[in-house]
Amino acid sequence: MADKFVGTPIKATTHVNQNEDLIFEKSSSGKKGYRLAQLDVPAIDAASLLGAAVRTDDLGAMPELSEIEIIRHFTRLSTWNYAIDLGMYPLGSCTMKYNPRINEAVARLEGLAEAHPYQPESLSQGALGIMKLLSDCLIEITGMDTITLQPAAGAHGEFTGILLARAYHQSLGNPRTKVLIPDSAHGTNPATAAVCGYQVANLKSNAQGMVDLAELERMVDGDVAALMLTNPSTIGVFESDIHKIADILHAKGALLYMDGANMNALCGKTRPGDFGADVMHLNLHKTFSTPHGGGGPGSGPVACKKILEPFLPTPVVKTNPDGSLGLDYNRPQSVGRVRAWYGNFGMFIRALAYILANGPDGLRQTTEDAVLNANYIRAKLEGTFDLPYKSPSLHEVVFSDKLQAKNGVKTGDMGKRLIDYGFHAYTVSFPLVVNGAMMIEPTESESREELDLLIDALKQIAREAEENPELVQNAPHSTRLQRLDETTAARKPILRWKAPVASTQLTPDSAAKEW
Ligand SMILES: *Cc1c(COP(=O)(O)O)cnc(C)c1O
Repeated sequence: MADKFVGTPIKATTHVNQNEDLIFEKSSSGKKGYRLAQLDVPAIDAASLLGAAVRTDDLGAMPELSEIEIIRHFTRLSTWNYAIDLGMYPLGSCTMKYNPRINEAVARLEGLAEAHPYQPESLSQGALGIMKLLSDCLIEITGMDTITLQPAAGAHGEFTGILLARAYHQSLGNPRTKVLIPDSAHGTNPATAAVCGYQVANLKSNAQGMVDLAELERMVDGDVAALMLTNPSTIGVFESDIHKIADILHAKGALLYMDGANMNALCGKTRPGDFGADVMHLNLHKTFSTPHGGGGPGSGPVACKKILEPFLPTPVVKTNPDGSLGLDYNRPQSVGRVRAWYGNFGMFIRALAYILANGPDGLRQTTEDAVLNANYIRAKLEGTFDLPYKSPSLHEVVFSDKLQAKNGVKTGDMGKRLIDYGFHAYTVSFPLVVNGAMMIEPTESESREELDLLIDALKQIAREAEENPELVQNAPHSTRLQRLDETTAARKPILRWKAPVASTQLTPDSAAKEW
């Protein structure tokens, strides 16, 4: 099979359309993409309607195109993109699973899609029912006591969860100043702790990539508010001493925050609430199949134990004495709102559809399949790539570029070469505890046939790294643009098009300065 790949990756093609002007450059004055019926009421000019709110400053050049030109422009651009509906996205830690179409169908039901957030509670019983049922399911899955659905992403959930921990410690009259974070943590964890006003204390992992209990014991004191722990960790390894970790923290009055972004490895098998976590977030856009990565807004509900309930964001869904549902705004100890309205409601519908379609046994099966897929990849690629941690893998596996780096080929080069084989790259250079990390998370969505294609592609890339390192170092070759200047893109991003000002043409440098 692998021999077929020599020279010509079988899955790769070049883009349908190699060049496309900016929509502004395609504009010609007077064109319109719409037709209006003739006015049959008296015309009112904008100034008399809007008064001082009318904008009279120069809005710059707006593109003028016909409908078909607009449709073709954006359709062509969309063919340059890689998407979960085109192929596998083995991005570790991101859980890029398939977004089932039934979720979309349910979310588009008129009564749900068109519901207005100001609709009276009596007319919103269906929407409130969805929030209540989703909350109950997630509480059952996590083993927690209560939940807020408000946060709009995982990192936003972390922020909310740490605010709860902070409010809890403040309510006890002992605000505490430190949050412990293992060196293998997702970058959002230390950022969250810092944004919530805590000092971050770095906790070293042991040789198996797990929390070092003796080190934890030494570091936890009366000034530690919480430990933020991802379990399974970002190297896909379950913290087998999680009970002891929780006990060490609780003995000193500190809380265990669990980053639950990796629930894909636990769902239906074990519950954080049972193994000692006090507060955690979930990523509906990872574990529960709602779109992400440019496909839609996220959702990061935060589940917690009873002791944190008084501090949950306002409002929370409540059951009235007559059995109807409502929203409770009267919560004097609440940390306040963390988002407008009630959260990303469309995502609640999709996640609930996924949970109900699978049922408890189906969710357990997805977990087992996700773990099986990661271990299949591990077994097939061990030897081809260095495996720095030998502890059993759960839903993802982390290799390193150690063997290929001898020929000057790095993880980033191989990730880019994978594009030529028709795949999205794996996660490159993360987690930071692994030098030259290649982090792969297949999820349960992928078939064995697709996994075999990825495995063959990676083996072939490893052979290329040996025989023709430059081919890999200069990848990708099949894309419209080749290697981009990533440093300049990160340091001087140009995020907005501006009409060239008279004779002074905008260069990337001048645009960056203006921005
Ligand atoms: C994805 C992820 C996050 C952040 O979630 P966002 O929705 O991207 O903000 C946090 N922690 C871990 C371990 C993750 O994988």
